Amino acid sequence: MRKTTTALLILALLALGTAAHAQPPAGRPLLVTIDDLPISSSRLHTDPAERERITRGMLDVLRKHKVPAIAFVTWDRILSPADRGLLRLWIDAGHELGNHTFHHLSYTRTAPKEYIADAEKAREEIAALSGQKVRFFRFPFLREGNTEANLDAIRAWLAESGQRNIPVTLDNQDWSFEEPWVTARRKGDEAAMARVAEEYHESLHLDIRHHEETGDELFGRPVPQVLLLHGTDVGAAQWDRLFTWLEQRGYRFATADEVLADPAFSEPHRYVGTHGPSLWDRLGEQRGTAKALEEVRKLIETQTEAWNRGDLETFTASYAEDAAFLSPTGLTRGRNEVLARYRKRYPDGKAMGKLRLEPIEMRPASGTEFTLVGGARPSRVHGVSVAARWELSYPDKEPASGLTLIVFRRTPDGWEIVQDASM
Ligand SMILES: [Zn+2]
Repeated sequence: MRKTTTALLILALLALGTAAHAQPPAGRPLLVTIDDLPISSSRLHTDPAERERITRGMLDVLRKHKVPAIAFVTWDRILSPADRGLLRLWIDAGHELGNHTFHHLSYTRTAPKEYIADAEKAREEIAALSGQKVRFFRFPFLREGNTEANLDAIRAWLAESGQRNIPVTLDNQDWSFEEPWVTARRKGDEAAMARVAEEYHESLHLDIRHHEETGDELFGRPVPQVLLLHGTDVGAAQWDRLFTWLEQRGYRFATADEVLADPAFSEPHRYVGTHGPSLWDRLGEQRGTAKALEEVRKLIETQTEAWNRGDLETFTASYAEDAAFLSPTGLTRGRNEVLARYRKRYPDGKAMGKLRLEPIEMRPASGTEFTLVGGARPSRVHGVSVAARWELSYPDKEPASGLTLIVFRRTPDGWEIVQDASM
């Protein structure tokens, strides 16, 4: 007994030693990604000297806060040979270049073949410039595919070419402050610049807090995050304050390899959509959809059980007060009327028989919501339509069977049937 205790104690101490040794540095890991490099807006910034000033400004802040960033290049943002020099500054500062395509196309509006050709051209250029393998990819507008087939096409190409999509978790609208900032700066209007700066920080704080909460709620722990920023003059001027705020919030700037190794980034998703919401919203939508389908499936089971014990009251309880019931004999409207109809047609257990209701397919209905500042977020599933086959079997006669289409609507505490077309 004592021997065992001693051995366990030694083991525990060894484990402690190892744990202490492998302890990661304190703070929540945060990956900073910067899109549309070398400079986000070609229209606002044409002067090579200004482009270099902005680049050096961004790099200074990253150095000050020891941020290992992924620098996503949009190849057509390169306006002159001098811009290649700007990208070399990023490499020399220790940042890794990523692929943000050649022409910043929207995958929602571009066929996979054309989109992949554009992205591949950029990958080759970036690899030639950096002399390194391009490991990371970022979808313009975060649009990853609006059909299942498009999703598969791009994912196959990413896997083949050895690139990994870096999703965004802390989505925000930092780029929208560039024009007001530059306008105020060029006028020398310091009051306006200060106002834009305040709005920039307020807006980013709100978005960061919101997405942080969404991710932490999904995983039940503080998950690492990926912040999206753009190559802007307002960024060069405001990142110092932003990064200080993030550090005070408990963040620690981390590499892509560290952040992506967290299991939260391995949860597969097949989010199909027109717009590009944050990764947490994609995962939340997927989990929410699965939960909604499960709840509706359970409700169908409960109904079937009620039928089979002759309980028509419970069977029709899930019909909405104004439900429409369609059958070959006509339209019945309202829960009470549906119940009365069933009572008339199935006066006892013998007439009711044994019901089997097997879903053939279930389709969730949801939409995409927009925030006031333009961010896209999926809405939760608000309806589910179920195509099913029903069968009534009897001990003494032939079974009856047919098809039905049942439409469920979400209520504050569950689901109700709004339409039922049984044939
Ligand atoms: Zn972009």
